[in-house]
Parts: sequence; structure tokens; C-alpha cells
Amino acid sequence: MGDPPASHSADAAPPAATYDCVIVGGGPAGLSAAVYMGRFRRTTLLIDSGEGRWAYGQHNENYLGFPKGVSARRLRALGVAQAERFGVVPHHGRVEQIDLLPAQQGFTLATTAGQVIGRTVIWAAGVRDRWPTFRGARRLVGKQLFWCIVCDGWRTLDREILLLGNIDAAAEDALQFLTYTSRVTLLVEPGKDELSPTARRKLHAGGIQVRSGEVRSVRLKGQAIENILLTSGELLHADLIFSLYGSDPNTELLRHLPITLTPRGMINIDPKYQTNLARFYAAGDVTDHHSDQVASAVHGGAQAAQAANYALYPPRQRLST
Ligand SMILES: Cc1cc2nc3c(=O)[nH]c(=O)nc-3n(C[C@H](O)[C@H](O)[C@H](O)COP(=O)(O)OP(=O)(O)OC[C@H]3O[C@@H](n4cnc5c(N)ncnc54)[C@H](O)[C@@H]3O)c2cc1C
Repeated sequence: MGDPPASHSADAAPPAATYDCVIVGGGPAGLSAAVYMGRFRRTTLLIDSGEGRWAYGQHNENYLGFPKGVSARRLRALGVAQAERFGVVPHHGRVEQIDLLPAQQGFTLATTAGQVIGRTVIWAAGVRDRWPTFRGARRLVGKQLFWCIVCDGWRTLDREILLLGNIDAAAEDALQFLTYTSRVTLLVEPGKDELSPTARRKLHAGGIQVRSGEVRSVRLKGQAIENILLTSGELLHADLIFSLYGSDPNTELLRHLPITLTPRGMINIDPKYQTNLARFYAAGDVTDHHSDQVASAVHGGAQAAQAANYALYPPRQRLST
């Protein structure tokens, strides 16, 4: 095992050092991995650029142990404190490049604060949601604007909702929202409509209105949506908006490494959260096991950390070679 991790403030450069594990991403997956690695007594650097799905103002109501729900930011603060207790210091920064060391010795990572070496890496960098592009849209996320029926379908109970989406996956979500409310409109962007005839037929049968248009702005009255202005000048009303445009995984930095990705760019992992590349593990929304949930990300981080920890045992601590 290496030396204990040096403590460094959020703005100070991490020492150019070798860590047993470098965890990229400090959302629920990365933090869960960090708690486990700290408790395994592995020197661990957790680098996080602070822009993930955890960083919006949403209140998570389906994560076990919080009967009144917990804000994603609060949950992260609790996770940081827990990881710190076991010697992990989260560093605010960005990994900009990652390369293989020879002979499967690990990886070099160029970060905004200098170069570090990880004997193992856990990639927990999440995804980027494709939010609508109207001005102020991001400020609405987690309050009036959502993306996930599993997370926030419950809050649509008997409310009027506007769904933004162009493909059959959005149509399927629209049909599933009927469990919660009958007042569902699907807004399809002009020129981007890829709804199949089957989807249209089922939407029609479910009483779901399909309209063509694009949101220009959303006017609020207090915390409630007063109206939604389309680029055509038309005004709509809805209590909540769901953006169903999809997301892109944060795996661009891995493209030059021999890591198997799905056609969508998600990281392929085995049941132990190992990738096909030795000493490289992945967890959370960025993997092909994702279910876009905090609970799954936390589970993934724990699994990846156990696999990384096992790889770090020297021969004297193993029966197998
Ligand atoms: C509005 C909203 C509501 C939600 N509601 C719920 C809910 O009610 N229940 C639920 O279970 N889930 C909910 N989710 C989903 C949940 O937030 C995600 O599933 C979870 O955050 C995924 O965790 P993660 O660690 O995989 O990724 P993230 O939380 O996205 O964290 C990834 C981190 O990696 C960092 N990163 C990326 N690239 C780099 C790099 N190169 N260098 C350094 N850092 C990097 C990012 O900045 C980010 O901080 C919601 C999400 C949103 C947006």
C-alpha cells in the first residue's frame, strides 16, 4: 500500500504522486467508491469537476433512508464527509487526459492541477443531459423541469405535464406517465419528428396530445409555471416539464484507450464492474449497467471499489497467482 494521501485544499494542486486509486467523478458513484477505497486503506484521489447530475437543486425522494427525501446536493455533502472520515480528500478539478502506463502498471492522468498516477482508476464521470436550449432552462432543472419518470413521475400525480421529445423512447415515457396523470402533451420539435406510426397510434389511443413546436421561454409565478411560450408565439400551460432528449456519456477522454464502449459510448462492464482493460473500473450512469438512479450509482461505486481493491493485493496476500 502507498503512503497515506496528502491533504490538500480545494484550490491547491494535488501533489504529483502515485495513488492506489484515482476516482474520476464525485457524484454518488464516485463517492461510494471513495468511501470503500478509504476503508480498504488505499491511497485515493477523488477528482470531480462539479457539473454532474447530482449538482442540480432536485430533491430525491426514492433513495432509501430519507423518508422525507433528500436534496442531491445534501446527499453529496454527506458523502464527502463520509469519504473524508476515511482519509479521502475530494479534489475540485478536471481530468483532461488519461494514458496507459507500460506493463499494466496503471495510468497517468493529466488534471487541471497537474499530473497524477493511478495504480487503478475508477471512472464515475456520469453523463451530460441534453436539456432544452431556451434561455434560463437550466435554472428550472429539479424544480419545474425534469427528465426522468422513475425519479419524478410521482410528482406529476394529477398534474398537467408537457413532455419534450422527438423519438419513440419519449413516446413510451409519455404512455407510462398515464399511470400518474391523464393530462399529458408531447411537444415534438419541427423537423426532428421521428415518431413511428405505432407510437402515434398508441399516443392517440391514450389521449396524449402530440404537438409540433419548440419552447422559447417559460414564465414563472413564484415557483409555479405561469405559461410556456413557443417560438411560434403560441402559449401553452403545464405544471411541470420533462425533457426527454436523452444524454451523452462522459467518455470522450477514453476513446483512444482499448476500452470497450457501447455504440452510444457507455462503458461496458462485467458483473464486478471491471472493464475489459486491466485495472480500469467504472460505475454509475456512465456504464452500460446504469439505471440512472442514485441507488444504482452507489451500488456500482461499491462494486468497482471492491474489484479495484482486489487487484491491488500483492501476491503475499493472495492464494491465487
Ligand atoms: C433533475 C434530476 C432529478 C433526479 N432525481 C433523481 C431521483 O429522484 N432519484 C434518483 O435515484 N436519481 C435521480 N436523478 C439521477 C441521479 O442524480 C443520477 O443517477 C446520479 O447522480 C448518477 O451518479 P453518478 O455518480 O454516476 O454521476 P453524476 O452524479 O453525474 O456525477 C458525475 C461527476 O463526474 C464529474 N466529471 C465528469 N467528467 C469529469 C472529468 N473529466 N474530470 C473530473 N470530473 C468529471 C462531473 O462533474 C460530476 O460531478 C436525478 C437527476 C436529475 C438531473
